[in-house]
Amino acid sequence: MTRATYRFRAHTMQPDPAGEDTLYAMECKTGGCEERSPSSEDPSAGGVWAVEHFKANQDHTGYREIITRAYRFWPGDWQ
Ligand SMILES: [Zn+2]
Repeated sequence: MTRATYRFRAHTMQPDPAGEDTLYAMECKTGGCEERSPSSEDPSAGGVWAVEHFKANQDHTGYREIITRAYRFWPGDWQ
């Protein structure tokens, strides 16, 4: 019979500053439209796109912000 001892380690999930850049985009929620701004590191770029999209399509009033951010599990104390 083999005996084994296990140790457990706590981990926390947080944003990964060394991961990929955080990207922001905005997409139109109007049914059948599916248009979306380019992804940008500038959080305000999607809003600028949405204003222009709304000016050209006055019945497209709903938008969704999409944020892409890298996360990582960071090791903590051994239990
Ligand atoms: Zn639209």
